[in-house]
Amino acid sequence: MKIQKIKGTKDILPDETEIFLAAEKVLRETMAKYGYREMRTPIFEQTELFRKGTGETTEIVSKQMYSFTDKGGRNLSLRPEGTPSIVRAYLENNLHKKRTFQKLFYYGKMYRQESPQSGRLREFQQFGIEAIGSSSPQIDTETIILGLEILNNIGLRKVETQINSVGCENCRPSYKESLKNFLESRLNLLCDDCKRRFKTNILRILDCKRETCKQVLKNAPTYENNLCNECKDHFSKVLDLLKKSNVSFTLNPYLVRGLDYYTKTVYEFISPILGAQDAVGGGGRYDKMVELFGGPSIPAIGFACGMERILLAVEKEGKARVQKQHFDCYIVTMDETTDVKGFLLLNELRKKGLICEKDYLNRSLKAQMKDANRLGAEFVIILGSEELRKNEVTLRRMSDSSQKRVNFSVDEIVKEFKA
Ligand SMILES: [Zn+2]
Ligand SMILES: [Zn+2]
Repeated sequence: MKIQKIKGTKDILPDETEIFLAAEKVLRETMAKYGYREMRTPIFEQTELFRKGTGETTEIVSKQMYSFTDKGGRNLSLRPEGTPSIVRAYLENNLHKKRTFQKLFYYGKMYRQESPQSGRLREFQQFGIEAIGSSSPQIDTETIILGLEILNNIGLRKVETQINSVGCENCRPSYKESLKNFLESRLNLLCDDCKRRFKTNILRILDCKRETCKQVLKNAPTYENNLCNECKDHFSKVLDLLKKSNVSFTLNPYLVRGLDYYTKTVYEFISPILGAQDAVGGGGRYDKMVELFGGPSIPAIGFACGMERILLAVEKEGKARVQKQHFDCYIVTMDETTDVKGFLLLNELRKKGLICEKDYLNRSLKAQMKDANRLGAEFVIILGSEELRKNEVTLRRMSDSSQKRVNFSVDEIVKEFKA
């Protein structure tokens, strides 16, 4: 039997890689514009990092992590998300002592063992930012503006922003309590997952996608009425800044995000073309994580977006795909002598910065022309024995099939390309 790729993984073939590269280019340009610098952390970490950071009771940690014991008996996991690694590296490398406020971003592969029917990849590419060191509502707002600009620059036309506040350690316990009181008498109406969440992580019931659970939650108490003054003030400042920056958004009182660490502002970017079930990205504040990891009390906020989902949405919106690699010329040769000359010319032209290719299979003239066409070469350089005798080459423009003879000299040929 042929060996096949692991379920939930994806081979990205060259044509699609070019689409990724184009998206990654605008990603990095936009990050730089907002002052974010890239950080690269290991793909695997101690499992403990995610248990502590992402949270023991989250679906990600309890159900979806690829964890294993290495030969030294250490319990390791492939990273299911980026934030805990960035915060660990931030502390381990004392970044907070170098500059009080840090703007960091990452881009790379993440791993989650999603259920097969979800249609989601188990190895996927995520980019994200972490702004560590400021509690200003301006940063909450700026991260949303940045996220939207990146999505737009990658080519997504329609993005909806949903926002909520999940409070802080002062106001959350009382909210949990009132939610508990409300749900206790309605427990039998909830799905099995939510019955379990009632005991382990009651807030996650709020974002259950089942219609029956949504129905129950319609009259449930919302965060909005339970926020402490500090959280209320912070949230209204964020919303005010968004309005004044002309960013449209929807308040979603059920938005809690799937992670335990969020405080205050949480938000999601939704592409209507993919449906509201799945966001293309989202994030929020996590003012307690640095402290949780043994650092000083430093506030932070960040978001993460799935690259495959974004590109899928761009494709569904019908945006023209990114252009393929451009080729300046293709060298066509006729026999062994001209073929060697062609190979040497190829290398000389590349030294001059031209993007060019030739045949390596001793194919017929017709087959070589076909190959040149397939690559989309702008010109073909024909090296025949007759041309060679006169120390010339034939230069053929593929778009209109016009031909001319040029001296067989690298400089003369390059001059033709610049003309
Ligand atoms: Zn609060
Ligand atoms: Zn449910």
